[in-house]
Amino acid sequence: MTAVNLLELDREALAAFCEQLGEKRFRATQLFRWIHQRGASEFDQMTDLAKSLRQKLGGRACIAPMGVVSEQASADGTIKWLFDVGGGNAVETVFIPEDDRGTLCVSSQAGCAVGCRFCSTGHQGFSRNLSTGEIIAQLWFAEHQLRKRFNSPEGQRVISNVVMMGMGEPLQNYTALLPALRMMLDDHGYGLSRRRVTVSTSGVVPMIERLRDDCPVALAVSLHAPNDALRNDLVPLNRKYPLHELLAACRSYLAKAPRDFITFEYCMLDGVNDTDACAHELLALVAPSGPVHGREGASGISCKFNLIPFNPFPASGLKRSPHERVMAFARILQDGDEITTVRKTRGDDIDAACGQLAGEVQDRTRVHERMTRAPVQVHRIGSPAARAIEAGRAPEIVAPHESEA
Ligand code: SAH
Ligand code: SF4
Repeated sequence: MTAVNLLELDREALAAFCEQLGEKRFRATQLFRWIHQRGASEFDQMTDLAKSLRQKLGGRACIAPMGVVSEQASADGTIKWLFDVGGGNAVETVFIPEDDRGTLCVSSQAGCAVGCRFCSTGHQGFSRNLSTGEIIAQLWFAEHQLRKRFNSPEGQRVISNVVMMGMGEPLQNYTALLPALRMMLDDHGYGLSRRRVTVSTSGVVPMIERLRDDCPVALAVSLHAPNDALRNDLVPLNRKYPLHELLAACRSYLAKAPRDFITFEYCMLDGVNDTDACAHELLALVAPSGPVHGREGASGISCKFNLIPFNPFPASGLKRSPHERVMAFARILQDGDEITTVRKTRGDDIDAACGQLAGEVQDRTRVHERMTRAPVQVHRIGSPAARAIEAGRAPEIVAPHESEA
């Protein structure tokens, strides 16, 4: 009989497991606290559990984290770990310390099948979904490792926020994601409030609706384009779930949590999606609309825009928008009364910035092949990049530069 890895089980599942062992369900809470709050990896550490129970657990269960392949630390304090998930795959997790918080960026899949043009993970193709245990093991490992390293007082958390913004599309791995989110929010686990856990999605509409009903954490939507023509090209999932459906899902997500807002992420690509016209189109997209063809109009969406300076990687053929362009774009959105921030680039000296996570992926799909074969279509005619492509040269890749406020 193979041992059950208890990292795979949320408290409900752990209670069922305890019952199977002939134990009371409440033992699960004790066990859960030992594992997630205190970072125990051996049953012998759990001194307030009867020895007979510890022995029983030792024969039937284990607490098995993932192997760490490497750890890299950036000059700005960002730390990136590469975890072995077997079968030649490895995923990345990034810790980003800030004055008032510690954020962990967690992966949900080995690779990603969505295949966004500007994303390094997308270019690698897809191997497999991570299990609940593999998702939560990233937090388990980072939290307890960092507590030791920073000598944190007993019980004081280092990680205050989790963002599902590592490798993979979390809403294409919903079954494994949901228990992991519950473990993050559980008071006997990591005790994070639902506003401090963010799921970022490229727009898997039906699953946005499920998440709203099952576990309405903070939602970030990777928009990147203000119209279907451009978004189809940048985020291929848009062909399945076009913008009007995505925005309707955002509205219905907020209907359940009216005091919340959606964060729209927008990766700024030079000459592609960064024009003044794009900014005005974005404003129109989230504004209330009047009645259309006799149908009731849509309400405005409570949102924030987060502009992400593109983090380049060689195969993308894309360039980061100049800083002044990003600022001008932000100003248009702000003048339209939309809260807009520009994301600081963190950890780019160790390839830990947004979109640079590549891990190790054994591509089982044809995404990688398709991406290398497909011509880059997204360059605006006449842009320097487009001219470079026409002339048969690779477009110039901008070097990662200093953090921007
Ligand atoms: N699959 C999810 C979450 C992972 S990506 C999603 O797409 O939302 C996390 C964020 O990084 C997304 O907003 C994504 O669009 C952005 N991103 C991807 N590649 C990037 C790059 N090269 N530079 C900057 N941001 C990037
Ligand atoms: Fe996948 Fe997100 Fe990267 Fe798109 S941006 S390829 S959805 S990880």
